[in-house]
Amino acid sequence: MTVADTTTTAPPLRFSRRVDEIPPALSVWVNQLVYDLRRLGRDVTTLSLGEAFFEIPRFSFEALDFERGYHYSDSQGLPELRDRIAEYYRDHYGAAVDGASEVLVSAGSKPIIAMCMQALLDPGDEVVIHEPAWLSYQEQARLCGASVRFVRHDVPLASFGEHLGPRTRLVILNNPNNPAGWVYGADELVGLATTCRRNGAFLMVDEAYSDFVLDGSFRALPSLVPDLDGVIAVNSLSKNMGMSGWRIGYAIAQPALIDRLLKLNQHLITCAPTVLQQYLVRYFDEILAHTLPQVRAVVEKRERVGALLDRRGIDRLPGGATFYYFLDVGDFDGDTMDLVLALLLEHDVALVPGGAYGASTADHVRLSIGTETEERIDAALGALQHVLRTGVDRDRISTEMGRLGLRRWEGTAR
Ligand code: PMP
Repeated sequence: MTVADTTTTAPPLRFSRRVDEIPPALSVWVNQLVYDLRRLGRDVTTLSLGEAFFEIPRFSFEALDFERGYHYSDSQGLPELRDRIAEYYRDHYGAAVDGASEVLVSAGSKPIIAMCMQALLDPGDEVVIHEPAWLSYQEQARLCGASVRFVRHDVPLASFGEHLGPRTRLVILNNPNNPAGWVYGADELVGLATTCRRNGAFLMVDEAYSDFVLDGSFRALPSLVPDLDGVIAVNSLSKNMGMSGWRIGYAIAQPALIDRLLKLNQHLITCAPTVLQQYLVRYFDEILAHTLPQVRAVVEKRERVGALLDRRGIDRLPGGATFYYFLDVGDFDGDTMDLVLALLLEHDVALVPGGAYGASTADHVRLSIGTETEERIDAALGALQHVLRTGVDRDRISTEMGRLGLRRWEGTAR
């Protein structure tokens, strides 16, 4: 067989600066270490995963048009699924949404958020993000050539006007917030939407954890800004229905933006998996009947874990929603990345370092209570306190990473 000879005088191949300048997704990287360690037979207490595990029945695929499911389908999402999502927003959150023109379904909310940025941002524009912020917002903005302005975690939404500049085109909130667990109030959301609109900026609220709120305080953005003028809500089945592996997410926005997202979706994804969309159309209510009680149980478990944290004297950012806590490890003399690696390699406990969520909360670590028992979470917190007391030996961690053949971090934990 003839093969190309590339050994002679060819210049070195180059990669784009845009991609080289962003780090990997820190939480995904940590969870890859967990998968790798599990394959080596280690029993890792996984407090790093961004999901809660639910028991969901296996409904039959026989009732679906399975053959059709082998093929592409409507790029905007199956119309019946868009209607179900619109009904869900109406029944659960009191929002009147038109499934035909105001909803787009795609392969998870992560690419949808990126497509929203592609649709709104030009190089030189600015995105304003409230800390602690889900770590992909900033990198997706940079991939559009936009700059990012972070607003400290203790700045209320009412003061955001001071942080919007002439180049600000987009403000992003995560409500309820991953990783702190707080819920923004209706008045502050309406106030911020008004401020953004007056400044010519869009407001995007990522509502991925919308059902993980027990006290009824969550208000969906489309219920507060019914004409959707200048606002975008993004949501997904990954957290609320516990189906992250199915990669189904959606955006709710005014038709002018949905049309632009559709164009991007046509070029990037084509459509979310057809058969999985069919399954959701057919079993939407049955799935929710199983998952919503489990969502409640997870938030109740979070409250009990809060009592464990109190007993151990571990401080965290305020908030009562989601399945995360953002723990203050300010007493630790060093980088939270080293703390997390020491815990993982020496105590088989996985957490996520806080630096990736913003500068004002760099001395925090993220704890997810979604996939482990309270006993194991309590034991893991004991291990965390042990490492906080005894400190970390960086050389030992580095040697251990090499010995186990684990992939090293290739970025700064901004
Ligand atoms: N937004 C937030 C705040 C998240 O935590 C996540 C997942 N960790 C996502 C979006 C992405 O979810 P998906 O792509 O699975 O819908």
